[in-house]
Amino acid sequence: METPLSSEQIFARVFERMRPRTPVPRIRVAFKRYANANAQVSLKESVLEVRMADTLGGAPDSVIEALAEILLSKLFRRPVPASSNDRYRRYLNRRDVRSSLDLVRQIRGRKRLLDAKGGNYDLVEMFEDLNFRYFYGLMARPVLGWSPHASRTLLGHYDSSHNAIVLSRILDRAATPKLAVEYVLFHEMLHLRHPVEHNGARRCVHTRAFKEAEKQFEHLRAAKAFLRNL
Ligand SMILES: [Zn+2]
Repeated sequence: METPLSSEQIFARVFERMRPRTPVPRIRVAFKRYANANAQVSLKESVLEVRMADTLGGAPDSVIEALAEILLSKLFRRPVPASSNDRYRRYLNRRDVRSSLDLVRQIRGRKRLLDAKGGNYDLVEMFEDLNFRYFYGLMARPVLGWSPHASRTLLGHYDSSHNAIVLSRILDRAATPKLAVEYVLFHEMLHLRHPVEHNGARRCVHTRAFKEAEKQFEHLRAAKAFLRNL
């Protein structure tokens, strides 16, 4: 039995075949937690960056090779060989692969959210207002929605894999002051602006810059006091 090749080796081999006169660039393959069997490549500063769904990690070499042919053909703007397309599709359609992809999609897939327009507060309206007041109106609007579950412990979160801000439905009540909802939304918007920093093995979610920015919120103390008593 042949020893399996690494994904990097497979991409290198396909690259060489397609561009025999170009030196093979450095190749980096990263497996990402996508909800679907997605994959993409980019060539930047002589590094070929390949990102593919971790669900493809167990695929046989012949399938990774077909995928490499598809992605590199697209990169070089050439027609995708029908045989590669066919082999890759056939793999995704295999019953065991399909059911494991379905499972992953269920777990990671599209977020189940209630509409941004709640019974009392409209998150789109509030987002645009905060965007104007604190971000010069420059922040691209993510997916916004109320959580199906009225959690008291998780009042809001920003989910970068779905680019979604979700607020707990418990806040969408007439008894909740607007500034408290605004503060939770503002906090999540800051997560969009200040990504998580990695310090060795430690993740820093609320960086110093994040905390500084949060202090700009006009009614910070009143909002925090209300949420503490929720
Ligand atoms: Zn936070």
